[in-house]
Amino acid sequence: MISRRNILQAASLIPLAAAVSACAVTPGAGLASRRNYTPSGLPLRRVHVSEDRVIRTIAGLRPFRRNGFNVSAERRNDKVIVHNYGHGGGGITLSWGSSHLAMELASKTPHKQCAVLGCGALGLTAARLMQDQGWQVTIYARDLPPHTTSNVAGGQWSATSVFDRPEVSAAFLSQYELAMQHSYRYFQNLVGPRYGVRWISNYHVLPQALNGETLPEQYPYLYPQRIDMARDQHPFDADHVYHYDTMLVEPAIFLPALTEDFHTAGGKIVIREFHSQSELMNLQEPVIINSTGLGAKTLFNDQNMLAIKGQLSFLLPQPEVDYIIVGNNGHYMFPRSDGVLLGGSFDRDIYDTTPDETTRRRIISGHRAFFMRMDDPWSV
Ligand SMILES: Cc1cc2nc3c(=O)[nH]c(=O)nc-3n(C[C@H](O)[C@H](O)[C@H](O)COP(=O)(O)OP(=O)(O)OC[C@H]3O[C@@H](n4cnc5c(N)ncnc54)[C@H](O)[C@@H]3O)c2cc1C
Repeated sequence: MISRRNILQAASLIPLAAAVSACAVTPGAGLASRRNYTPSGLPLRRVHVSEDRVIRTIAGLRPFRRNGFNVSAERRNDKVIVHNYGHGGGGITLSWGSSHLAMELASKTPHKQCAVLGCGALGLTAARLMQDQGWQVTIYARDLPPHTTSNVAGGQWSATSVFDRPEVSAAFLSQYELAMQHSYRYFQNLVGPRYGVRWISNYHVLPQALNGETLPEQYPYLYPQRIDMARDQHPFDADHVYHYDTMLVEPAIFLPALTEDFHTAGGKIVIREFHSQSELMNLQEPVIINSTGLGAKTLFNDQNMLAIKGQLSFLLPQPEVDYIIVGNNGHYMFPRSDGVLLGGSFDRDIYDTTPDETTRRRIISGHRAFFMRMDDPWSV
C-alpha cells in the first residue's frame, strides 16, 4: 500500500553525495531540485527525440496465448513433451521462471537426455537449467539469435501483456506468480555487464490515480522502491506518476551470453525447422521441451495462440539517460546501450514483421511531445 509516509520516506532517500557529485560536473545543475533525481539519486535527463537521431525501426510478434503461457507435460508415443511457450509480452521476464517449472516437469522422468525446440529466451534458459541438472541437451531451432523474437524484446523486467484476464484460471495465475518469483531471483544473480542486466528506475505515467490494476500494486514484493509520486516529486508534465525499480535486460547481450554458457556446458545446437509433430517423433531424445514461441501455434495447432505485433524505433544511445518511462499513452522508453528504445504498439492478430510508417511516426511524435515538456535543468 502507498502511504504518505512511504512517499516522504522515499523522498528522503536521495543520496546527498550522488546529487552533489552530479551537480559538480553538470552545467545548470544549480537549478536542479529533488524532483530532477531518481529516488536512488541519479539525474533525470531528457531524451532527445528527433527524426535525425533515429538509427533503426524494427517489429516483432509477441507469442501471445489468450489463456496464459503453457507449461505442461504430455506423453506422445515413447516421448514426453514438456511445453514451455506462449509468454506474450513478458517472455524475457518470465524466461528463467517458466523454464524452471518446465525443468521440474522434465526432471520427473527417468531420463537424462533432452531436445529443446527453440533458441529464444525460453529455449536457452530451459536448456541451461536442464544442463545444470546434469542432462545432455541439444537445441533444435529454425532461427538463432540475433534472429529470434527474443532479440526484438525491449527487456523491461515486468510480465505485461501475457494473457487476457477473463480467459485465465486461478491455477494459471498461481503458475504465473510462481514463474515471476523464480525469474526475479534468477535474474538478480545475473546483474552486471556480462549478461546485460541492471536495476533501473521506472516512471509509470498513468491516465488516472492508482486503482490496483498495475503489476507493482498486485505483486509489490517484485517491485522495490514503489512511490505514488506527487506533482513536485518528478520532472514530467503528468498528474499521475508511479515510481518503482525493475531490472532491464539487454537481449543483444543476454542471449549471446546464454548461448556461450550453453556451449561451455557441452550443449549442441542444430539448425532445423520442424513442419509436423511426426518429425519430432523421429528425434533420438526421449524428452522434448517445446519452446517454439509463436511457432507452437502451427506446430502444435494451438488455437489459443496469436501474434501481437510490436514495433520499436531506436535513437542514438544517450548514456546520461538512466530511467524507464512506461504507460505514457501506451508509449514506453527504455535506455539501452544499443540505443534509446521507443515503443508503443500492440497490434493483435497481425503476422507481418514489416515496420509500419504511420506507427513509426506516432511513436516518435508521442515521445517527442512528452520529453519536450519534461523539466531538465541541465539541458542548454
Ligand atoms: C516489441 C516487443 C517488445 C517486447 N518487450 C518485452 C519486454 O520488455 N519484456 C519482456 O519480458 N518481454 C518482451 N517482449 C516479449 C518477448 O520478446 C517474448 O515473450 C519472448 O521473446 C518469447 O521468447 P520465446 O523463446 O518463446 O520465442 P522466440 O524468441 O520467438 O524463440 C522461438 C524459437 O523457436 C524456434 N521455432 C519456432 N518454430 C519452430 C519450428 N517449427 N521448428 C524449429 N524451430 C522453431 C524459433 O526459430 C526460435 O529459435 C517483447 C516482444 C516484442 C515483440
